[in-house]
Amino acid sequence: MDGAIDLSRRRPEILVEEFDDGTCESRSEASCGGRLTIDLGAILRNYRALITRASGARVAAVVKADAYGLGAGRVAPMLASAGCDTFFVAQVQEGIALRRDLPTTRILVLNGAAPGAEAACLAHRLEPVLNGWDAFEAWSRAARIAGLRGTCAVQFDTGMARFGFALADAERLSARIASTDHMTVGLVMSHLACADTPEDPANPAQRDAMTALRPIFPTAAFSLAASSGIFLGSSYHLDLVRPGAALYGVAPVPGDANPMAPVVRLESRVVQVRTVPGGTGIGYGHAARAPGPMRLATLAVGYADGLPRSLSGRGSAWLQGLRLPVVGRVSMDSLVVDVSRAPEGAVAHGDFLDLIGPANGVDGVGKEAGTIGYEVLTSLGRRYARRYLA
Ligand SMILES: *Cc1c(COP(=O)(O)O)cnc(C)c1O
Repeated sequence: MDGAIDLSRRRPEILVEEFDDGTCESRSEASCGGRLTIDLGAILRNYRALITRASGARVAAVVKADAYGLGAGRVAPMLASAGCDTFFVAQVQEGIALRRDLPTTRILVLNGAAPGAEAACLAHRLEPVLNGWDAFEAWSRAARIAGLRGTCAVQFDTGMARFGFALADAERLSARIASTDHMTVGLVMSHLACADTPEDPANPAQRDAMTALRPIFPTAAFSLAASSGIFLGSSYHLDLVRPGAALYGVAPVPGDANPMAPVVRLESRVVQVRTVPGGTGIGYGHAARAPGPMRLATLAVGYADGLPRSLSGRGSAWLQGLRLPVVGRVSMDSLVVDVSRAPEGAVAHGDFLDLIGPANGVDGVGKEAGTIGYEVLTSLGRRYARRYLA
């Protein structure tokens, strides 16, 4: 058997293809360029920590964009069984998909229903957030035609110029709601523009605008705060808070120590390790050139997997606490890191290196890429072997 490859010397994790012990799942790990581990237990701990922070307000969960890329079909039922009874998505199609996983729980659609989507909302018991008069009248009409009570939320623009009724519309809207008998407004909401900057005077201005609406809608619940807003203090909590990012481990107050448990670990497979002499051009455009002899590892993930191309020459892989800098440009399906500082043999074909993990979380990667943890999470590609930890 001359020339046969000795499989017994392969690292055992390469041969692990499936976990079937019920605590996690994986699809064909050895066939993917990277492994994405999503810690559902950490999401649950974050949910409970936010309940403690929210000083008695109800804590909804925002699971738009497939729970920020982490899998709404896994995250939402887990939170529902932990007692979460209100979920937010951005789009009607997301709500329809989520309804299959959550047959009875309240689901609100932040962007509301586009003209023509009202009947689908009613059929799937989705509550659109109505942002203006056209949407309001269309919802009212659809509910009347269906012979149903159209439950919904209304949003006010308290100072973001993005979504919502003008504050000046409040009295007229309240009267209009009172005069329609096939419509229930369960929630009055608004959204903070500058919640991640605690000292910004826009925060108390928006809060005060919101609290001034309360007597006009005496029976509705009120909601203002998303993740960062929860950390502005109890006067921002009102009746219901709507965290997304903090559930998924993103720091709610940028720059402060992150009180949330990390949720995501992304490891990439080493395809190849090589030593190059000084002067070697590395990767597309020879954007980097070896200043001296260098040991390089090529990893099997790239911008098609959601590793921003802006990490070129700036990002990092990690071997435990050792930073391995990205060298040259991030390619579509690969990137190259400098492993010269790792002990000889510590990085080999088939190994995993961390791209998001204990040494550098989603916020750190966001910073390196010139973006935010939110965008790193929601960009995570579909090509990873996913493992969910219970
Ligand atoms: C996305 C979103 C949230 C959740 O925001 P996070 O910062 O992720 O907590 C809450 N409310 C609205 C209106 C949103 O669009």
